[in-house]
Amino acid sequence: MVITRFAPSPTGYLHLGNARTAIFSYLFARHHRGKFILRIEDTDLERSTKEFEAMLLEDLKWLGLDWDEFYRQSERFDIYREYAQRLIELGHAYPCFCTPEELSIERQEAEKKGIPYRYSGKCRVLDKKQVEELKESGKSYTIRFKVPYGEYVVFEDLIKGHIAINTDDFGDFVIIRSDGTPTYNFVVVIDDALMGITHVIRGEDHIPNTPKQILIYRALGFDVPKFAHLPVILGEDRSKLSKRHGAVSVRNYREEGYLPQALFNYLCLLGWSSPQEGKEIYSKEELIEIFDLKDINTSPAVFSKEKLRWMNGVYIREVLSLEELIDGITPFLKQAGYDVSDRDYLKRVLEKTRDSFETFKEAGDRLKPFFVDDFDISQDAWSELENARVYDILSVFLEKIKDRQLNAQSVKEMAREIQKELNVKAKDVWHSLRIALTGELEGVGVDILCDILPKEKIVLRVERLLK
Ligand code: GLU
Repeated sequence: MVITRFAPSPTGYLHLGNARTAIFSYLFARHHRGKFILRIEDTDLERSTKEFEAMLLEDLKWLGLDWDEFYRQSERFDIYREYAQRLIELGHAYPCFCTPEELSIERQEAEKKGIPYRYSGKCRVLDKKQVEELKESGKSYTIRFKVPYGEYVVFEDLIKGHIAINTDDFGDFVIIRSDGTPTYNFVVVIDDALMGITHVIRGEDHIPNTPKQILIYRALGFDVPKFAHLPVILGEDRSKLSKRHGAVSVRNYREEGYLPQALFNYLCLLGWSSPQEGKEIYSKEELIEIFDLKDINTSPAVFSKEKLRWMNGVYIREVLSLEELIDGITPFLKQAGYDVSDRDYLKRVLEKTRDSFETFKEAGDRLKPFFVDDFDISQDAWSELENARVYDILSVFLEKIKDRQLNAQSVKEMAREIQKELNVKAKDVWHSLRIALTGELEGVGVDILCDILPKEKIVLRVERLLK
């Protein structure tokens, strides 16, 4: 059975790149009717927080991910200690008493020579007696993994292909820190092995860690899983996507009124080429059906906020049912301070306006005229009001609607009549009405407003301007 995992560290918000890793691991497991595991990698006790963990879980659920098993590494320290001991007993690990100062001197020397740093292996050669003495003297120590010299560790990455890294590139690395906490490269192997992970899917920044991990698998006699390292995500300037590029966490997008389905869909297209050429909109179920690692590109993907925004608009306009749209948008309209208690009204508004915004947050602005009567007149609109024709137009309009029904059709007829009667342009009529009804020069259609707002409200708004 295929078993994959997503293993975030709760040291910050869920980054888009990590979210994509989670999605691909999830899709691969679900496609193969396998298991998807969520594992919180919180061995760095100083940087990990419960708050970040809670937000990670919330954001993953919001994206539509669910998991079959859940683990927290901070609750598994006994297991790691046991395996570290086993590695020592098997002669694959040893205590290292070098102080941070000694190590920093080693590092500086390597730097001076211009060669990549690796630990000298000084403590490798300590005999049992020396180790005992040093321990008894109370000197603190780390545990290092004994890396064979001058060997190539080779693996076939499912995305990147053949990879060979020489062990001399990294040297003996720490598996238990001096404070007793285990390090990432060590615990990741113990957990992936004990949890039966068959496919490790993660970012390509972890490629240099993979040979270290493979050596530990071998030392403990564990089966080595398959690896799939995903290409990085770049910003539009072709540098690695980071905070410099603006919003990069799932939470940012959630707060800006993006839909989880749209973000899920868009992230999939970053680095994965659909076998159905030209098709871009996919439901989670469709993606589970067709997702395959062989369709992941080897080259980096470029994140485009514009494209994501466009896709969000497609979901709002075409994919969501009206009921789903109402549910999703309600919190944003509430946040904007609108009374949304009349679901039927909301339905009528959204039916007519869902094609006029691309995010829920934008809808907050866009739909204001449907919910707020005493709005201010914008600066641009004021300058337009200096044109006396606006008042003539609105006065005639007010006369006309007195004993006529008001809807999208009739307002168009009236606009034509006013145009003729006052010898003004169509644009002037619509502009004047828009200013009266919304206080802005741009926005949702006047005909839609006339269709939905009660006539009394329209009259009041026009009268207010004429006063
Ligand atoms: N905690 C690691 C990270 O967030 C996990 C890497 C891995 O998947 O092995 O990068």
